[in-house]
Amino acid sequence: MPYCPRCRCEYAPGVMRCPDCGVLLRDLPPKRPPRRPPIFIEDLYVPGAALLTLLVSAGLLYLRLAAEWGQVPEPFGSMVRAQPPCFTAFYAIATAAAAAILALGFLNWLIRRD
Ligand SMILES: [Zn+2]
Repeated sequence: MPYCPRCRCEYAPGVMRCPDCGVLLRDLPPKRPPRRPPIFIEDLYVPGAALLTLLVSAGLLYLRLAAEWGQVPEPFGSMVRAQPPCFTAFYAIATAAAAAILALGFLNWLIRRD
């Protein structure tokens, strides 16, 4: 059975290269048990974007609500209050959607980890 010398995963006969690591497989058995699969930068795109969206949208929602309650100093408070009311709904929806994406990603990670 071919094995990857880097991640030490086992592959079916005929597979020449590890699809995760890109290195040529060897026929020697691994000396140690397989490591967890490496984390690729591509795996962090969605949670990173969701976290950034959550932080920005929650901050804008907080700023919007604080301006409505008179907690933001002038003239910045009146500038924020001049935004259309639909912006509040947009900030809330973006915050909830980003939080849901992060929560689903975390649940997926919990289910799939060893
Ligand atoms: Zn590998």
